[in-house]
Amino acid sequence: MARFLLSGAAGFLGSHMSDRLLYEGHEVFGLDNYITGRQSNVAHLEGNSRFHLIQQDVSDPFTFPGEVDYVMHMASPASPPDFKRIPFETMRAGSFATHVMLDLALEKKARFFIASTSEIYGDPPAEHHPQKESYFGNVNPIGPRSVYDEAKRYAETVTMAYQREYGLETRIVRIFNTYGPRMRPDDGRVVTNLICQALRGEPMTLYGDGSQTRSFCFVSDLIDGILRLVLSDEKEPVNIGNPIERTVRELAEIIKGLTGSQSPVVTVPLPFKDDPRQRRPDISKAKRVLGWEPKVTIEDGLRLTIDSLRKEIAV
Ligand code: UDP
Repeated sequence: MARFLLSGAAGFLGSHMSDRLLYEGHEVFGLDNYITGRQSNVAHLEGNSRFHLIQQDVSDPFTFPGEVDYVMHMASPASPPDFKRIPFETMRAGSFATHVMLDLALEKKARFFIASTSEIYGDPPAEHHPQKESYFGNVNPIGPRSVYDEAKRYAETVTMAYQREYGLETRIVRIFNTYGPRMRPDDGRVVTNLICQALRGEPMTLYGDGSQTRSFCFVSDLIDGILRLVLSDEKEPVNIGNPIERTVRELAEIIKGLTGSQSPVVTVPLPFKDDPRQRRPDISKAKRVLGWEPKVTIEDGLRLTIDSLRKEIAV
């Protein structure tokens, strides 16, 4: 049994990570300030003697008593509407908070893990499609998404510097679009928006013409890839995501079919600047070094997500 200090434990990904670590028999000290995380995501863990939830903004330095084997920094807003709503908190989560968590890992002689993102690739051109870990990215440093993208780029930079300068054991995952139960119904992202609209019989909104692409990974596949990475010897970033690429319009049609909704699919002007035209992970490194690839089909993953959102929004 190992002891994990996990920031963002009440978030979408953090709560699934907590479940998996507890299932593996570990002890989890979860940190969250609930700015985007929700206590309901971990309500089912109440009473588990190996799970401890602590209210803490990890952008502020704090002390943690006791030993820690792994420090995992997964706390961050991650949806484009949140970048507009809470830009400074988003930047702090990638920057100050990464320092705080790295310092804790150093002090505890723990292994450090950071959740980075495909956003560090920005809006990749055709010659960098799909995205390999060796691609440096095409990020607008001053656009509305930059508060997330640049903070995460900085997070990777500072993590590698701690590895080089202090010999800290570090692991970096680059997460591509992930979906599943426990996403906030109102987080404004494409999967939650389209499902909630379909369930409510409201128009399903395609931003722009709906021809932009994403590659959607179900949360259990992502968590499995992350855990393999954390336990591996790989010290440089690894992409984890599903390589099956779809247009947003295709996604809407699949969701419409699975929900049996009569909602019309409509186009609306792009609300956010610098929306990447295409996004798809090259996962050959994850396959090679982690023996990982996703298993859950989009239909199975979406069915589980639809069921959970249906309960949550009670329609
Ligand atoms: N999108 C859409 N309709 C929506 C919400 C999002 O067409 O109601 C599009 C958005 O413009 C983007 C893609 O879906 O091209 C994915 O958006 P999301 O916010 O889920 O994540 P991103 O990958 O952009 O961070």
